[in-house]
This record gives sequence, C-alpha cells and structure tokens, in this order.
Amino acid sequence: MRCPFCNHIDTSVIDSRDVGEGDKIRRRRECNNCKGRFTTYESVELNLPRIIKSDNRREAFDEAKLRSGILRAVEKCPVEMERVETAISNIKNNLQAHGDREVKSIKIGNWVMEELKELDKVAYVRFASVYRSFEDVRSFLEEIEKLEHELPPELKRNQLDLLESDGDEN
Ligand SMILES: [Zn+2]
Repeated sequence: MRCPFCNHIDTSVIDSRDVGEGDKIRRRRECNNCKGRFTTYESVELNLPRIIKSDNRREAFDEAKLRSGILRAVEKCPVEMERVETAISNIKNNLQAHGDREVKSIKIGNWVMEELKELDKVAYVRFASVYRSFEDVRSFLEEIEKLEHELPPELKRNQLDLLESDGDEN
C-alpha cells in the first residue's frame, strides 16, 4: 500500500480493528518515510448488487472507478485521503444495505453527491453543476468517468470561477 502523501511504498500497519458488522477491517497505517498516517478499509467484495446503467446495461460495481471519480472531484480541495476512503466506504455500505440485487447508477450518483457535500463544498458544486444540467437521466458515474478525460466547457468555466474566487490560488 503506497503512501498517499509521498508515494513511498513502505508503510506499516499500526492498528487493525473490525468495523461495521465485523465484515470490514479498518487499518491505520503509517508511512515509513514521511510518517504520514492514513486509513484503509478491507472488505469482501461479494454480494454487492450489480449496477444498472442509464442505457439499461448491467455491470459490476467498480470501486476503483468510484474512487478515481471522487478523487477527481476533490482535486485541489483540502480533503484528507482518509475522508475519501470513508466516503467510499459509506457508499459501499449503502449499496450493501440496499437489499436489491441491482441498483440504478443514478442512485449511486446521488449517494456520491451526498458524500461530496460532506467532504468539500467546491467538490460538491463542481459536480452538482454537471449533474443538474442533465436533461435526461444519465449515469452520473459515467460522467465522472468522462471528466477524467475532458471537462465540458461549462464545467471548466465553473471550475475557473471557483478557483478564482478562492483568492490566493496561484
Ligand atoms: Zn509518506
């Protein structure tokens, strides 16, 4: 597990405990280089419902995709990695608690929005501006993925506005 702060490859587990219903392990880690501390969660990937995409295709829930989407949203925002992992964990809990064997991707999009709202206002607004501009019901996760490749012009504008209103961003 690489250090999220300095990318050093050698980190130590300093604490492990069961969380949730005992189906998850929370590990506190310390980087052996920069001494930065962060948290990882380990859980079984079984039993997560499949995702119904906006075009009705089904696919497996992809945690890596979710993580990179959220990381993209909080880019340049003062959000600790640990809080991002907690958000992902919350979304997975929602998925697990959902009960159905399949969940619409738009529902996950809403959970992501809820988490972003807690994490960082700028990250939230960044996504809300895209999310709400949809006329049809499209997959929010697909949009997150798309953002990794290119930002739509209106979002770019919003993002610039947001960054500029921060003041001391250089
Ligand atoms: Zn480090």
